[in-house]
Amino acid sequence: MGKTKRIYLFNESHLPDEGWLQMCFTCDTITGGLLFFRADQVSGRLVEYHVHLCSRCRRSVETSRAAYLGLVADSTEVIGAL
Ligand SMILES: [Zn+2]
Repeated sequence: MGKTKRIYLFNESHLPDEGWLQMCFTCDTITGGLLFFRADQVSGRLVEYHVHLCSRCRRSVETSRAAYLGLVADSTEVIGAL
């Protein structure tokens, strides 16, 4: 079993891609908050997808089914385009 690869989803900003602070995936707040989205097996390797979410958007996906489904749809689209 190979090493787990982690992919982080966030909105593009001036911040370096490798930093732990990124622009929230669903708004323009800078955040270190992360939500585990899903894990896939890709060629025998585990790939984990984590979404940068600010506390406000995180609360929104935790309390609103529409917001949660929107996040799932957007994340799935971005992952499909990687
Ligand atoms: Zn946000």
